[in-house]
Amino acid sequence: MARDPRYDLLFEPVRIGPVTARNRFYAVPHAAGMTNSMPHMRAAFRETKAEGGWGVVCTGYVSIDPGSDDTPLPYATLWDDDDVRSHALVTEGVHRHGALAGIELWHGGGSVMNRLSRVPPMSPSGTSWMATHVPFMGNQRPRAMEAGDIRSLLAAQAAAARRARQAGFDVVYVYAGMGYLPYEFLLPEWNRRSDEYGGSLANRARIVRELLEVTHEAVGGQCAVALRISLEELRARASERAASEAHELVELLADVPDLWDVKLDSSPTDCPPSRFAPEGSHEPVIDFVKKLTAKPVVGVGRFTSPDTMVSQVRRGVLDLIGAARPSIADPFLPRKIDEGRVEDIRECIGCNICISSWHDSVPVRCTQNPTIGEEWRRGWHPERIAAAGSAASVLVVGAGPAGLECALSLGRRGYEVTVAEAGDDIGGRLRFETRLPGLAAWGRVLEWRRGQLGKLPNVTIYRGNHLSADDVLELGNTHVVVATGARWARLLYSPLEVAAGGLEGPGVLTPDDLALGAVPEDPVVVYDFDNYYLGGVLAEHLARGGHSVSYVTPAGHASAWTIMSNEQPQVHRALAAAGVALHTLARVTAFAGGAVTLADHFTNAERRLECRSLLIVGTRLPNDSLYADLSARGGELAEAGIRSLNRIGDALAPGAIVHAVYGGHRYARELDADPATLGHRRDAPLARRA
Ligand code: ADP
Ligand code: SF4
Repeated sequence: MARDPRYDLLFEPVRIGPVTARNRFYAVPHAAGMTNSMPHMRAAFRETKAEGGWGVVCTGYVSIDPGSDDTPLPYATLWDDDDVRSHALVTEGVHRHGALAGIELWHGGGSVMNRLSRVPPMSPSGTSWMATHVPFMGNQRPRAMEAGDIRSLLAAQAAAARRARQAGFDVVYVYAGMGYLPYEFLLPEWNRRSDEYGGSLANRARIVRELLEVTHEAVGGQCAVALRISLEELRARASERAASEAHELVELLADVPDLWDVKLDSSPTDCPPSRFAPEGSHEPVIDFVKKLTAKPVVGVGRFTSPDTMVSQVRRGVLDLIGAARPSIADPFLPRKIDEGRVEDIRECIGCNICISSWHDSVPVRCTQNPTIGEEWRRGWHPERIAAAGSAASVLVVGAGPAGLECALSLGRRGYEVTVAEAGDDIGGRLRFETRLPGLAAWGRVLEWRRGQLGKLPNVTIYRGNHLSADDVLELGNTHVVVATGARWARLLYSPLEVAAGGLEGPGVLTPDDLALGAVPEDPVVVYDFDNYYLGGVLAEHLARGGHSVSYVTPAGHASAWTIMSNEQPQVHRALAAAGVALHTLARVTAFAGGAVTLADHFTNAERRLECRSLLIVGTRLPNDSLYADLSARGGELAEAGIRSLNRIGDALAPGAIVHAVYGGHRYARELDADPATLGHRRDAPLARRA
């Protein structure tokens, strides 16, 4: 199909200093968990985006010097010639598909702990970043930078920029964002210097200007020099010379970089979950930049709609449409717009599982795109999949995220697929959860698969079909995949930190009961030791629906794990706004007589909390009775022509949606595959040259 002419604008080339991007699609720097220790995985991951049509594809953050060491978080390095060879794999891959390669050179300053290098950290005035969450806390205060440190910083940036050019990069960054060293110079809280690098904004911005200048000089006019900068905090600060300090700064440096890459100041605001921020949420902060510079401007906003992208360009907000998450969820997003296949875009749902992978220091994972990070390791391509290895028919029981992804990928391979779903529609857990506050965008997991499945004549879906073992035997497909999901358990939480001790009786509810329409009696206690989103979301949902709600958790925060997905600050704000009373570090030990007994998690001191309905969001158990029934009838399976029986998704190991989708995809990829090709290749750093 041809491209819709409305989107032609997005395919215009954009000049960036000495280089030209072939279009306006710009995959901005973002960490992907694959550092120099996994160079082939990293290169294939970035190359796939170039193949998918992005005009520029950038690295994640790349340390310029051992004094900037973010261990255990997955940062990359460009410290020596071995690192140059490692990054050259990326640039070669990106160039193969006609895209430009960008590299984000980075120094963490007082926000890194240098845990591995053990170099004392440094910051403009010896100020450290005081995190409230343990993994981000440091217990070594940085030293204040002296004049010699500033000279060394500039020299390290210049040396890294030269290596970047050697490695084949086209766009080389100065990174003044997110609490890192150059950003620390910009804010008086970090910068109390009395020399020419402190005081007025012109002085505070001096280091950024000098970093840009040494980078220009180092790349000798062969690469574009980009400035990535956080403007949220500066925009909130008054200036005597301009509308805000952000305006003043952009005026001061207007034409010094070849490209402005503008963003917000902390990961939760810069990369907010869809629960709390819509597409394009950066605009109110960065909308002024283009008016003050003649250089191109790139920014992000979880853009997946080409109409929104066109509007950003037409309204003079951005020249280049930046994307991190949308390029993960669909590395082929530009190609799909170009080919007039907008409905095929696998839109990011804004769940931030990708961000959590960075916090976990593992290769990037994505709820929507199970192939991400697996391009080299497992040879999974987001758009291509091997043809069926046999003429077998496959029965998929259950049409939640696991069953749907499995059926779609099997269907694309060409298998005859039958999907049986007990409910009156497909979607599994998504059907209930996407009706809860902030989770509507997660419905894209279902709707994208619904749309894609509709194009496959070899996949037949039967709704309202609850299959028993007898039914499955009767259908007699060659392969049976059980994707029957999981159920929430009425279990409590023991001091050993495991789910234990059942609690039945009137008033004890689980999320499954609410999904079926149960209405709790007030006051409600939501008891959450699942620690991901659902407990917090349900507390908010019930409170907003007029219930009197308390939220109890043995953890130290509400939805404690959501610190990993950038949601936690907003979860606390949302619960407070909805009037939910919070009880942390507390275990529910009993429920009787219109109250629950709460035990302090550490001292066991008890207290009572009024409660008529106790909603336990604790642990999930697999719905594995069908699988167990079928397994018990081994001989009959063969007689019915069934050659394999497997479980996937929550029916195998209850988890987040990302795991279910991945499990469904993996089954489909591996059916009939040569056993020698299963498993995954292990990546390793390039051998050092003596
Ligand atoms: P997952 O996340 O692993 O995909 P879900 O719980 O979201 O799991 O989806 C499981 C789906 O399986 C639900 O839609 C449920 O109705 C369906 N299901 C469960 N048992 C059966 C069965 N015996 N026959 C058909 N469908 C079933
Ligand atoms: Fe988007 Fe979620 Fe995928 Fe991240 S993990 S790219 S937020 S769908």
